[in-house]
Amino acid sequence: MADDKKTNVCPTCNGKGVIEGVCETSSEWQGKTDDGQVCTPDQKCPTCNGTGKVTG
Ligand SMILES: [Zn+2]
Repeated sequence: MADDKKTNVCPTCNGKGVIEGVCETSSEWQGKTDDGQVCTPDQKCPTCNGTGKVTG
């Protein structure tokens, strides 16, 4: 451990820097979307601001 700052892989996004979108299927949505799925888009991880790493 030579670094002064300890850097850890962000636990929220596992170092990817983005929160992957999640698709869910519900009978409620069938007919509203093509395949009955509703997906949230990928978004930048708020924990590490998209860097994939956190210091602490
Ligand atoms: Zn993150």
